[in-house]
Amino acid sequence: MSERMCVIIIDMLNDFVTGNLKCDRAAKIVPNLKRLVEAARRHGVPVIYSNDAHYPHDVEVVQKWGKHAIKGTKGAEVIPELKPTEKDFIVEKRTYSGFYETGLDSLLRSLYDGEGVKTVILGGLHTNICVRHTAADAFFRGYKIIIAKDGVDSFTQEDHEQGLKYLEYVYNAKIMSVDEIIKEMGKQR
Ligand code: ZN
Repeated sequence: MSERMCVIIIDMLNDFVTGNLKCDRAAKIVPNLKRLVEAARRHGVPVIYSNDAHYPHDVEVVQKWGKHAIKGTKGAEVIPELKPTEKDFIVEKRTYSGFYETGLDSLLRSLYDGEGVKTVILGGLHTNICVRHTAADAFFRGYKIIIAKDGVDSFTQEDHEQGLKYLEYVYNAKIMSVDEIIKEMGKQR
């Protein structure tokens, strides 16, 4: 059974869903993620948003993807369907991993009255990019990983499927549906 869980929603921002880096496949994970965050809040499982908030000269912007999720713009805001509540946490990042030079790890360690999070549940975009890099850093730090398989996606089905396989094989991630995860949350305490 998974203990001391948290949900991390990765890059469900306007630019990733409808804007500059639009992913057509993202729309179908939105209702699943909505159920996931609502269930988490109900069960007292912390919800964390890991959001790109770029400077225009960030390496990722300049060298790879072009302008997206520029800090302070509409494109860098969480999509309205998944709008954070004031109890949720927002941790900004400037590249793929939610842990890289951010306060995410110390936040996770401070939760559950300082006992810290044990299991991170990852959802959002993209299975093979930011989800993968965030999972890597979670694994390096000893967290257990659950991937919401119907709550993550990529530009293509192939990228998504390969991404899931990699996460399972390399980081020992449990690949579960949102419904299975919600059931697991019910057992937490
Ligand atoms: Zn980015």
